[in-house]
Amino acid sequence: MVTYSPILKKQQSFFRTEKTKDLSFRIDALEKLRSKIKANEQPLMDALRTDLNKSEFDAYTTEIMIVLEEIKFTINHLQSWAKPRKVKTPITHIGSSSYIYPEPYGVTLIIAPWNYPFQLAVAPLIGAIAAGNCAVIKPSELTPTTSEVFAKLIPEIFPEEYIAVVQGGVETSQALLEEKFDYIFFTGSVPVGKVIMEAAAKNLTPVTLELGGKSPCIVHEDANLKLAAKRIAWGKFVNAGQTCVAPDYLYLHKGIKARFLQFFQKAIKELYGEKPLENQNFTRIVSERHFQRLCSFLDNGELLIGGNTNQERLIIEPTVLTEITWEHPIMQDEIFGPILPVLEYESIEDAIVGIDNHPKPLALYLFSESESIQKKVLNQITFGGGCINDTVYHLGSPHLPFGGVGTSGIGSYHGKGSFDTFSHEKSILKQTTRFDLPFRYPNLKDGLNKI
Ligand code: NAD
Repeated sequence: MVTYSPILKKQQSFFRTEKTKDLSFRIDALEKLRSKIKANEQPLMDALRTDLNKSEFDAYTTEIMIVLEEIKFTINHLQSWAKPRKVKTPITHIGSSSYIYPEPYGVTLIIAPWNYPFQLAVAPLIGAIAAGNCAVIKPSELTPTTSEVFAKLIPEIFPEEYIAVVQGGVETSQALLEEKFDYIFFTGSVPVGKVIMEAAAKNLTPVTLELGGKSPCIVHEDANLKLAAKRIAWGKFVNAGQTCVAPDYLYLHKGIKARFLQFFQKAIKELYGEKPLENQNFTRIVSERHFQRLCSFLDNGELLIGGNTNQERLIIEPTVLTEITWEHPIMQDEIFGPILPVLEYESIEDAIVGIDNHPKPLALYLFSESESIQKKVLNQITFGGGCINDTVYHLGSPHLPFGGVGTSGIGSYHGKGSFDTFSHEKSILKQTTRFDLPFRYPNLKDGLNKI
């Protein structure tokens, strides 16, 4: 097996020079990253078209713009995030003061998936750089063109001893995991997340695991159905449903189910045309294997919308399946494609129990105008994050830490969340030498044990 020890050793000694801890070094690195991305928008969009048939609009908004915004936000706030913070000191510690010093972990490993292959490699890298770390990034082997562009751009701005890109598949990941990194940031599936955590456990390496799962989308009887239909159709079918926070299934109130689905059908037509298979801008499924897995669900329940596929181009049109129960194969694992199964409920309590009987979702979406329904759902269901009356949008706010809970992930990032994730908080108590209170010491004349 190939060994990555040489890269690791180089990064460890570079980290020891303390250059990466310098705030102006970090800001300069982020500026370089931003300029490089800006200068290469077209090659990146072309690569995303080749790998996934992403339209320029989708590639720009969901992969490029989102990281450019994240870099800008990070540069603007880095100085205040990186400063040591003075915190309170209890009266029992009189004479001393207390501080928290954020410090980088050292050499970090970032493993990225294929669904937003550029964004999900760069977004954690921004956090790693901001916090003052070195990083090795392994992009996905399933989007080779984008990974190749990324692997070409990074060495043009950063030396390998600071930031390195290692391309390859499972074996490459496994070889990297043989090394002792100071932090591992993984984005990918739940089963591989377990493999990563097991490997990290050998060295007690801390991890962030950004995983997936089945994210429910509840539409209550009092929702604005037309708007809900449009926002859900976009959130589900952008990137052909290959989005970690895409609504995985619809949970519709029985009373509005038929009306909502009419609006939904119209929304799909509005967004993707009468014949989505002929829409040249509809994202394709990443591989033949993934395509076949998705096609195997098409006979679940009853086909209401879509269902047509193009095997040659690996396209599946937006599809809605009704008469679905929790027992259907499509309800067993995350779908990760443009197929939306529909469950129905009579009371919101039934929906809450239905969701709660399953692993904690990465995202949850609720469409309802009622504050009490919103409160009930937020109070009673645990999930990573989500939206009320929208889908996916929470992911784009740098003010909202993004991550899962339970099987959908460990830890979070974006904005200050990324800086915190890649920083260790060193707690320091500075003690006075002007006096020394005797209470802590045994057997002293004035000590408590004499009382
Ligand atoms: P994956 O887990 O198959 O692969 C992710 C990365 O891990 C790839 O770089 C791959 O090379 C590597 N890998 C695969 N098998 C490995 C193994 N046995 N040992 C070590 N490394 C291995 O995931 P994917 O198919 O690329 O991505 C889809 C999954 O990612 C979905 O489950 C989705 O929900 C999840 N995801 C989560 C987020 C999030 O932010 N929470 C974002 C995007 C995708």
